[in-house]
Amino acid sequence: MPPPADYHMHTPLCRHAAGEPVEYARHAVAIGLNEIGFSDHSPMARDGFDDWRMLDSQLDEYVAKVRRAQQEFPQLTIRLALEVDYLPGQEDWIRQLATRHPWDYFIGSVHYVGDAWDIDNPAKLSEWKKREAFEVWSAYFDRLTLAAESGLFEIIGHADLPKKFGIRPAQDCSPLYEQFLTAAAQSGCAIELNTAGLRKDCREIYPCRDLLQLAFQKGVPITFGSDSHAPAEVGMHFAEAVALGRSVGYTQTLRFQQRQRQIVEL
Ligand code: ZN
Ligand code: FE
Ligand code: FE
Ligand code: ZN
Repeated sequence: MPPPADYHMHTPLCRHAAGEPVEYARHAVAIGLNEIGFSDHSPMARDGFDDWRMLDSQLDEYVAKVRRAQQEFPQLTIRLALEVDYLPGQEDWIRQLATRHPWDYFIGSVHYVGDAWDIDNPAKLSEWKKREAFEVWSAYFDRLTLAAESGLFEIIGHADLPKKFGIRPAQDCSPLYEQFLTAAAQSGCAIELNTAGLRKDCREIYPCRDLLQLAFQKGVPITFGSDSHAPAEVGMHFAEAVALGRSVGYTQTLRFQQRQRQIVEL
């Protein structure tokens, strides 16, 4: 069985990743992947919202870069996607974004808790000291639940992102997982096993085993993503991610084409 598709990778247009899509594709072929998908940080409704995403005017250039990789590596299936930040109130903008190109899927991610704090931004680490960890996790999962309910996304990204820096609440978080996964199961969106967590302070795949186990019990499907910000990160730690998925019971994953899902044996 070949490794599952790597559905989470970035491009230099987001201003914090290195390497062109053709280089990511070349690495994917070299390590034996059959399918990948680019999911760079989408523009926001307002350019200049932050400094770690493409500008609205760069969307066509992004698509062209992905198309170039598709042309250069016809033996590799390359999907066109976006990692879209979910902010309440942006639903119409996201719906509009969806009409601008023939996307294969959208990953819905929550990085922002409140209006201006991106909780995974190392430059804003001091914000964590101003709040109780559980308060941040609760606000994060409330928003993630709305993202799942919105029906705007095929996949929810790195579902327990707040653990990135290794700051964890003492409280039991399972009610937060329960609330989010009930919404995901109801709306039919998947979650990803994101191996980037292994490269962060938390040293753990997103999401943790407890969340994943509950996801399996509720019938929430999974996809896989390296969240590569450099070509050499493509497919990284996928054996570990597959083992984790299998260990809680998963035998299937999903692939997407033009926002239609297909089940694939794991
Ligand atoms: Zn990024
Ligand atoms: Fe992300
Ligand atoms: Fe990402
Ligand atoms: Zn990401």
